Amino acid sequence: MDSRQIFKKSGILLGLTGWLLLLALVWITLPARADAPPAARRGLGGDELLAQMQACKFPRNRAGQVCFEAVWRYILPPQRDGQNLITPVQTLPFTTEIRATGYIKGLYVTYYGLGSPAYREQVQHLLETTELNALVMDIKGDRGRLPYTSTVPLAVEIGADAHPMMTAWPAWMAWFAGRNVRTIARIVVFKDEPLAAAHPEWAVTDVDTGGVWRDREGLGWADPMREEVWDYNIALAVEAAQKGFNEIQFDYVRFPTDGLIHRALFAAENTAENRTAAIAGFLAKAKAALAPYNVKIGVDVFGYTTWRPDDMGIGQHLETLAPYIDVISPMLYPSTFADGLPGLPQYREAIAFPYEVVNLSTLRAVARLKAVNPALEVRPWLQDFPDYAFDGRTYTPDEIRLQMEGARRAGGRGWMLWDPRIQYTSAALVSADPVYLPNVKGQVLVPVYHLIGEPEGRWQRAPANFRADLEQFLALGYYPVNLRDLTAADLSMVPAGKRPVVLTFDDSSVGQFRMLPDGSVDPDSAVGILLGFHAAHPADWPLRATFFVLQDVDAPERVLFGQREWAQQKLQMLVNWGMEVGSHTISHANLAESSSVEVQWQLAVSQANLQALLPGYRVVSLSVPFGAYPADESLLAAGVYQEMAYRYQGAVAVRGGLTVSPQSRGFNPYRITRVQATRSELDYWLQQANRSGVSYVSRGE
Ligand SMILES: [Zn+2]
Repeated sequence: MDSRQIFKKSGILLGLTGWLLLLALVWITLPARADAPPAARRGLGGDELLAQMQACKFPRNRAGQVCFEAVWRYILPPQRDGQNLITPVQTLPFTTEIRATGYIKGLYVTYYGLGSPAYREQVQHLLETTELNALVMDIKGDRGRLPYTSTVPLAVEIGADAHPMMTAWPAWMAWFAGRNVRTIARIVVFKDEPLAAAHPEWAVTDVDTGGVWRDREGLGWADPMREEVWDYNIALAVEAAQKGFNEIQFDYVRFPTDGLIHRALFAAENTAENRTAAIAGFLAKAKAALAPYNVKIGVDVFGYTTWRPDDMGIGQHLETLAPYIDVISPMLYPSTFADGLPGLPQYREAIAFPYEVVNLSTLRAVARLKAVNPALEVRPWLQDFPDYAFDGRTYTPDEIRLQMEGARRAGGRGWMLWDPRIQYTSAALVSADPVYLPNVKGQVLVPVYHLIGEPEGRWQRAPANFRADLEQFLALGYYPVNLRDLTAADLSMVPAGKRPVVLTFDDSSVGQFRMLPDGSVDPDSAVGILLGFHAAHPADWPLRATFFVLQDVDAPERVLFGQREWAQQKLQMLVNWGMEVGSHTISHANLAESSSVEVQWQLAVSQANLQALLPGYRVVSLSVPFGAYPADESLLAAGVYQEMAYRYQGAVAVRGGLTVSPQSRGFNPYRITRVQATRSELDYWLQQANRSGVSYVSRGE
């Protein structure tokens, strides 16, 4: 046989295989009425099979499981034993398209840090290998020094640029531009020792000595009420814009707070009105001067400004600043909330509430500023440095991510991490690899697991294989979300370039969540495996999965994860960790065979029971047993049983392959199709998902 013949033959073979795959695909992706098994073409009447399946009373009788498997034999894709069907991941280098997110994730490098090649490399490495897409750099640092050689005459005159940290600025800036990393120039405005020293006539004066007033650090301040001071800082801002920075960020846009304030003398009387007028005047003039440049203007403010109605005695009043700026960055470090959150004594120990501090403060800022300047972005600073006000703790990656999540859910438009030591917690950052082009019309993978344990079988995934599934999902750029996120059509938490995956678990068997006699979670149960995987990948694999629990079936090991004495605590733990608890009806009822009263009884009572076990929690997701939908599907969404009303936001079917994007018109939150977590089916669907344009890929938030 010559090579051409071989080629031709294998071409035919491939063609046949392709047809088979296509056929399987058509069957499996039949919309969910396809709970009627597509077996007709193989000789067994579809109606017959459906009748057989609906006779199942799983787990009330064992025949149920048998007939369930009979159904499955017909819809499984072709087996490829021992062969990995996954095509290599098509990853992209970090391109402008991926980076072009409106959601800013940044960190900060100090004046001195800019002078260190090691720090610079470290920062560049983080920007290349994680979700970060912005860098804040000191252009005028806390001691008034510029890290570059300036052309602003006053800067040269007072020696502010006498100690440049870097000479190769054009190459440095080009590096960021080439990767579409947002560059933000931080300018410490009124705390300015070199300016105060060289021009005491523009400085805050000490009424006792007649000389320059000094703060607790012994540093002089330029007078916020003097226009000469404004002009100097504006000249530096313009210079930064000309260097190619995307954003100017003014810090210390305020009056001094510490030291002997009563001895500080300003150009005008120190009243709230004069203070806010000075700050607003500076920002208005800066806005006008920067108008010709394509830069945004941001301002850093104290975290408490989001809570206080006044100017805090320092000229920082949110509504007054808002008209002149594009971004406001409250410094929401829990360590700075030494007095807790005003009016909320439960958060007095602010350091223990990273989520609440950031979330509630951001919510307040967003709500207050919406009316004044609707385009204004609230982008808080977050804490990645050891606490100094409470118990001295260092935040874990999870606590840092809680802050990020708090900002996102409050309507923040990103965040920036602050650590003046430049020792950022890289484990708190989602890795940038692999990265796909955004595709929000693509389909979503929702695998369903049943039993977890030995041996591996049709309805049971061995622990080692479940671990391997997680490794594979991670390697392919998946990021877990809960079902409620998908059915709410909110996948904004999925980082740019990643694909969402909803891990679902049906039937609440003990292998999914087992407690050991010593009170620890069995590391070989699904929850134990998820906990371990999250610990190894705190940012890349948050604890998200949806567990559909049963409450009253003949098999006690499937009632609320077996172990009766742990039932409530297990549910509470799942929710506390960020995972989701959903209903699988009370008794694994076949809703297709149930009267509408029975359907409503199952859905109302199961939801009420779970919510009684989880005070304050809302159960919104449902897994339809056997994928057997009731005749009246509207009963899944809402209904009432003896004055007990219920509502579900979404429901999952048993199968059907990848599910339609929530951004697509065909999306039906009550018909979420799933992929069975067996090797062959996962391989098949992961391969489908890897095809160009098939998968949902996040734009990122
Ligand atoms: Zn089930």
